[in-house]
Amino acid sequence: MQVVPVPCLKDNYAYLVIEGGSAAVVDPSEAAPVEAALAKAGVALRAIWATHHHWDHTGGIADLVAAHPGIEVVIGEADAEKVKHITRTVSDGEEIEFGSHRVRVIHNPGHTLGAVTYLVDGNAFTGDTLFCAGCGRVFEGTPQMMHESLMKLAHLPGDTKIWCGHEYTASNLRFAAAVEPDNKDVAARLAALTTPSVPATMAVERATNPFLRDAQPSVIASARAQGLTSDEPWNVFAQIREWKNNFK
Ligand code: ZN
Ligand code: FE
Repeated sequence: MQVVPVPCLKDNYAYLVIEGGSAAVVDPSEAAPVEAALAKAGVALRAIWATHHHWDHTGGIADLVAAHPGIEVVIGEADAEKVKHITRTVSDGEEIEFGSHRVRVIHNPGHTLGAVTYLVDGNAFTGDTLFCAGCGRVFEGTPQMMHESLMKLAHLPGDTKIWCGHEYTASNLRFAAAVEPDNKDVAARLAALTTPSVPATMAVERATNPFLRDAQPSVIASARAQGLTSDEPWNVFAQIREWKNNFK
């Protein structure tokens, strides 16, 4: 299995997941770069897997379906009615077949209520739930919900490759350094950063992503300095998320 990042729009990533002569595409925000990547790889599009309903992850679906009639178009259950051309909705723990592989769906409500991660062959397509060194904004769920969603992902094996929805890693790492000025892994990651920054590994995320580290004393101390009065992990998460919303 091969994963090909396809830069789209200003800072989005779609991904081709290639097995034999077949491809699925994750989060096609626009069709043209995806078509170019399919042609370059010489593979046929079989499926679209959308991580959530936002236009910058689904905007290319209509054109791709028109050009490749009959393909499967998948999205999480609670996001389905907001997007046209969906052929299949999925929920937590469900599996999709792709060639000889099984793709596991992890429901991650928070950024949207139907947000999902697709996990296949050690690759996690996390959309706008988990970013490299950061996480998405909590638009539809509650901070508690988003925290639980991130904790589900945090338990994936350390060598899991993280392919996220946007190239936000540089600014995310600058924020991570503000949260944990003494975290040497954050400093080293920032110093070594190249673009594209995907894939990261879950081990690196656990060591550097402040949104996966809300049980760490260093992160709790920084959240307290921002006004937090509780040590509950999801309260720590909420405080750090709020701080990031206003960080520049
Ligand atoms: Zn989004
Ligand atoms: Fe997005």
